Amino acid sequence: MADKIKMGLIQLCGCSGCHISLLDLHEQLLEVLPNLEIVYAPIIADAKEIPEGIDVFLIEGGAKNEHDKHLMEEIRAKSKTVVAWGTCAAFGGIPGLGNLYKLEDLKKTVYTTDSTDETAGTIPSENVPELLEELKPVSDVIDVDIELPGCPPTPAMIANAILALLGAEELNIPTKIVCDE
Ligand code: SF4
Repeated sequence: MADKIKMGLIQLCGCSGCHISLLDLHEQLLEVLPNLEIVYAPIIADAKEIPEGIDVFLIEGGAKNEHDKHLMEEIRAKSKTVVAWGTCAAFGGIPGLGNLYKLEDLKKTVYTTDSTDETAGTIPSENVPELLEELKPVSDVIDVDIELPGCPPTPAMIANAILALLGAEELNIPTKIVCDE
């Protein structure tokens, strides 16, 4: 097996479910973790800046605002291999359903309220990243090396991808991602 790989993980416009699926490897984590040096993972540990020289970066979720886009571009510049991790990252997934509506209509729906609090229906405009008109899958923003489909990808698929990157297994991404039987 290859040397330890430096890995980064991030959640952008996703629900954390892909991260949970990684944890669902349970005892197989013991096989995978010793081969990884996790150098950036804000959802798991406090992380300030994305370091240089990352071997593999797993991105959960797509880009719904300018900050997400900026992070994707920084990750691409600092990583050898970028994985669009899960259906949201690969194709837009559930957050991508918002693309069926105009951004202004989405904002009105989310922030309209019957509350008697006068500030409750205010659409935030200061100190928040500018929203994109549409959610973008990772490959719409940067080059992607591997797309792992699934909502979330199964623990077995995640383990296979990591072990394949370590040179211990063949990468086995299913060609059929929707069950029609
Ligand atoms: Fe959550 Fe599914 Fe999107 Fe992963 S692919 S972030 S589990 S909604």
